[in-house]
Amino acid sequence: MSEYDYDLFVLGAGSGGVRAARLTAQLGLKVGVAEEDRAGGTCVLRGCVPKKFMVYASDVPEQVAYARGFGWGAQCGTFDWPKFRDANQAEVNRLAGIYAANLVKAGADLLLGRACLKGPHTVSIAPSNGDAAYEVTAKHILIAVGGKPFVPEVTGRELAITSDDMFLLDHLPKSMIIVGGGYIAVEFAGVMNGLGVETHLLYRGEHILRPFDHEVREHVTQEMAKKGIKIMTHAEPSALEKVDDGIKVTLTDGTEMVVETVLYATGRTPNTAGLGLEKVGVELNWDGAVRVDDCSKTSVDHIYAVGDVTNRVNLTPVAIREGVAFVETVFKNNPTAYDHALIATAVFSRPEVGTVGLTEAEAVAQGIRVDIYTARFRPMKTTFVGGESRTFMKLIVDHNSDVVLGVHMVGPDSAEIIQMAGIAVKAGLTKAQWDATCAVHPTAAEEFVTLRDKRTA
Ligand code: NDP
Repeated sequence: MSEYDYDLFVLGAGSGGVRAARLTAQLGLKVGVAEEDRAGGTCVLRGCVPKKFMVYASDVPEQVAYARGFGWGAQCGTFDWPKFRDANQAEVNRLAGIYAANLVKAGADLLLGRACLKGPHTVSIAPSNGDAAYEVTAKHILIAVGGKPFVPEVTGRELAITSDDMFLLDHLPKSMIIVGGGYIAVEFAGVMNGLGVETHLLYRGEHILRPFDHEVREHVTQEMAKKGIKIMTHAEPSALEKVDDGIKVTLTDGTEMVVETVLYATGRTPNTAGLGLEKVGVELNWDGAVRVDDCSKTSVDHIYAVGDVTNRVNLTPVAIREGVAFVETVFKNNPTAYDHALIATAVFSRPEVGTVGLTEAEAVAQGIRVDIYTARFRPMKTTFVGGESRTFMKLIVDHNSDVVLGVHMVGPDSAEIIQMAGIAVKAGLTKAQWDATCAVHPTAAEEFVTLRDKRTA
């Protein structure tokens, strides 16, 4: 009989926590998971999943316009936001139910309530239904509580909404300012524009999507502008004020704009407040993230952390891989550091962005001599129906070794294509090996195995 209630207790039933809990329970060990909301975490409840359904919904008018070009007498009609929103929430709830059921099926206990560390091996849980708090003990503890939206200190910030609110709006605003130039800002700009909302994207820097390749940033900016998204760069709100016809946003240069809704998408912060971490000696980084080693161990030997709460690479599949590596390390006697290099990622902007590996600037900064291959062309569908959109593709190739170091794309299906390109980049294949792969015709992706024109940087 163990001296603890659980072999593993997980704080947070999001992507990383659930994967770790299920795998551990499947080893026949006793696992408990505390969650104050529904199971599923940011990805399922207020992130990737409902966002992607919004992207699909927002793309319909463009597809209907294409349909007309192909000879269909199609009309889009009006968009029923409440109907879509409720269907989206119903799907989210279905998936949350599956997450919870899978935990239980694996043999784990799902405890609904707010968890907090009371001692090195003791977790207190305040049940969501208001019942009295109780304590459990665990040999190992995994912190997987994710992150939350960050809104900077701006006068009137309480008037702004965050991405959490976007899925539950009671109606679609007529006009919207989105502050930020990262994944969330760019994705919601595409969504709102597609749904017919007058959309202004305000970014403080020169080009949106700062960590991405400079040509990707320029190309996606142009493509978004073609769709009618009003992008203002070097734009920083200094105050928000309620006025009769909406919210007045004053920028640092004195410009005033009035819109119905203001969304702040200015990054996310780790959810570490109020968890009792300092009490048990779990150290945090400057940004509030739990400090971990390569195997996700915190400063306390039996306490680990995975996912956004560690602020490494904040992506769902990464949290899942970190969870798997944690189980290997702690319960399978196989210390495993998840390799965070060369993670392919996509921005579900309209058009999509897909990227993996080095940008041109990163390669040059590392002193690598690189050959740059690019292609810009009208997607086949667009050429038939008319339209101005262009696809952009770029390969960064090591001039000496011929290894493909980076792949970047803006255009339809970039997310799907970059997943496959990611395999080749992770495998360290050369441009010659890419070229030895026969093209699939007619596709956009075939460009990646037929690129010829290059410049050297
Ligand atoms: P990001 O870190 O991607 O972007 C934050 C943006 O806000 C940047 O443009 C940043 O500008 C700007 N910003 C930060 N602070 C301020 C400020 N004080 N005033 C004005 N602007 C500011 O964060 P997101 O919130 O967009 O997304 C969080 C994370 O979630 C992402 O990094 C990603 O890891 C994940 N995510 C992934 C998605 C996907 O895989 N498709 C989708 C959505 C989220 P600057 O560039 O100048 O710093």
